[in-house]
Amino acid sequence: MAGRKLVKSVRTLIIIGYCSFMVQQREVTCGFLKAGLNLPLSRFNKNYVTLDDIFIGVKTTRHYEQTRLPLIMQTWYQLAKKQIWFFTDKDDPLNQKLTNGHMVNTKCKASYEYKNLCCKTGVEYDYFLKTNKKWFCHFDDDNYVNVPHLLTVLNRYNYDDYWYLGQTSMDTPTTIEKHNSLFTFRFGTGGAGICITRNLAVKMSPFVIGGRLMAVCEYLGSGDDVTLGFIIEILLHTKLTVMPEFHSHLENMGLLNPNTFKEQVSFSYELETKNVINVPGFSKDYDRTRFLSLHCFLFPHFNLCRPQQNWNTRSELVNKDINRLISVNRTRLCKKLPSVL
Ligand code: UDP
Ligand code: MN
Repeated sequence: MAGRKLVKSVRTLIIIGYCSFMVQQREVTCGFLKAGLNLPLSRFNKNYVTLDDIFIGVKTTRHYEQTRLPLIMQTWYQLAKKQIWFFTDKDDPLNQKLTNGHMVNTKCKASYEYKNLCCKTGVEYDYFLKTNKKWFCHFDDDNYVNVPHLLTVLNRYNYDDYWYLGQTSMDTPTTIEKHNSLFTFRFGTGGAGICITRNLAVKMSPFVIGGRLMAVCEYLGSGDDVTLGFIIEILLHTKLTVMPEFHSHLENMGLLNPNTFKEQVSFSYELETKNVINVPGFSKDYDRTRFLSLHCFLFPHFNLCRPQQNWNTRSELVNKDINRLISVNRTRLCKKLPSVL
C-alpha cells in the first residue's frame, strides 16, 4: 500500500517537474499546472510581478462622484483596493474613508479643458514616482478593468525594460507641427487605459513631474494622452505597443464578444450614444452602463451577483448602502450634475 502511494507521489512529482521545465522552456502549456496550482505561466519568469507591483491611477472628478465613482467602488475596485488611487478635484472625506485614504485631491480645476486633465495626469505621475511600484497604469473613471487579466497581460512584458502599452484611437499616426518640423507618432488613447514601466516613467520625469506635463500639453496644444505619446515616442524613442485587450468607447463596445471578456483588460461605455457592451445580467434600465452585469459575468461569486433571480434587489441594496454612506454629512458642492454619467 505504502509502496503504491510512493510510486504515485514520485510519478506526480516527475510530471509536475517535467511540466515546469517545459513551461519554463515555453514549449508547452500544462493546463493542469496552470489551473490546478494557480500559477500563471510567467510565474517562472524571474521578472514576474504581482498585483502589489502595479499602481493604478483613475482620473475622476467631483462631477462624477455620485455616478461613476460608486460604480467603480462596487465593482473592480474590490479586486485591487490597495493598488487603485483616485485622482479628483476636491477634498472628499467620505470617499477618503471608504477608500482607506486613496482619494487624491489634485487641486487641478474641475473642468474638461485639456490643460486641467493634463494637470491631473501629471499628479498621477508624481504619485506613482513616489512609490516603488514597477508598473504605472492609468484608467478613466468610465473604464471597467479586469484586474486579474491586467496582471496576466503585464507579465508578458519585462518590467525592467521600457514599455509603453496602450490602444490607438486612430488608424493612422498623429502628426503635430512645431517650429516648421513635423512630428509623427502614435499614442495610447487615455480612455482605454495605458501602462508604463517604472524605468520608462523615470526617463519621462524631466517632461512630466511637478506640473511639467501640463506645460508640455500647453506647448503642443494637445491632451494628456497625445502629449504622453509625443514625450515617449518622439523625445524618448520608445514605441507604443498596441494592446488589443484595452478598449475605449471610441470603439463600438457592442461588437465585443462576451466569450472573450475574460481575455480583455479594459472596457468602457458612452451613455449618450448608447455605446455599451453586450452582456447578460441586470436589466438595461437598472444597469445602464452594463458594468454591474460585466462584473458579475466575470466574477459571479461577488455578493451583489447572487442569486441571479435577486440580482436587481440585491444590487439596489448595495447601491442604497453606498448612496447612504455617500450622502452622510455631504453638502452638494456640485450644483449642476450632468444628466448622463
Ligand atoms: N474628467 C475630469 N474632469 C472633468 C471632466 C472629466 O477629470 O471636468 C475626467 C473623467 O473623470 C474621465 C476623463 O476625464 O476620467 C474623460 O472624461 P469623459 O469620459 O467625460 O470624456 P471623454 O473624453 O471620454 O469623452
Ligand atoms: Mn469617456
